[in-house]
Amino acid sequence: MDGRTGKAGTASLVGVASDRLRILGLVEEDARRQVAPLAEDPSRAAILLDVDGTLAPIVARPELASVPELTRAELRRLVARYALVACISGRTGRDAWRLVGVDGIIYVGVHGLELAPEADAWRPVLHGFAELDWPWMEDKGLTVAFHWREAPDEEAARSELGAIATRAGESGLLPRWGRKVLELRPPVEADKGTAVRTLLDEHGLERALYAGDDTTDLDAFRGLDGCEVAVRVAVASGEAPTGLREAADLVLGSPEEFLGLLRIL
Ligand SMILES: [Mg+2]
Repeated sequence: MDGRTGKAGTASLVGVASDRLRILGLVEEDARRQVAPLAEDPSRAAILLDVDGTLAPIVARPELASVPELTRAELRRLVARYALVACISGRTGRDAWRLVGVDGIIYVGVHGLELAPEADAWRPVLHGFAELDWPWMEDKGLTVAFHWREAPDEEAARSELGAIATRAGESGLLPRWGRKVLELRPPVEADKGTAVRTLLDEHGLERALYAGDDTTDLDAFRGLDGCEVAVRVAVASGEAPTGLREAADLVLGSPEEFLGLLRIL
């Protein structure tokens, strides 16, 4: 490498860094403007949060996830301040509570299915699929999830899951593809969006922020449609679906950046 190339490389890195700072400044200004109607009157507003990838950084296995203590401290502050703070997770509500560990938050599990009583009738069918032999499976009672993030041959695993998805469909279940995961769920009209709607209606609230990082969070974004104030936040890591960024009012790069947003709420 000659001196000229080295210099050009350095100049370009400085350029990227200053652009990044400028962009962060614009994001913060925009964020403050958007959340102002919520933060100025918190007794009329809800803060609704996905857990994994939003509060807890993504890790290789869900059981290794954790919510940083600094984030927990902010959540405790928000619980005392807002009319409603809820976590709507793909985990069971009990597991989300264990992970987040903050009292006063409402925990709604299994993508809102825990708020849908008609889902219970499908437990035996789901249980049949939970008995299949798969290296990394999550049986949540109301859904069964097959992960392939750590599969030695991801393409083979993905194709095997394609066959399982077909059989599940024939049994009346709904197969749903997420981030390196196939989830089987009951054919029940319940998702993070219906959970958002139910929670807001129950609490008589028309102002809310929802933050999430994955495809299922798009449902929650739609659950805010019709609200007087709605702030849709995408916590967009490299693996985040592009549709989520496009549907969001605010895009943040990581749970760490999202913690910055919690602090101005
Ligand atoms: Mg998530």
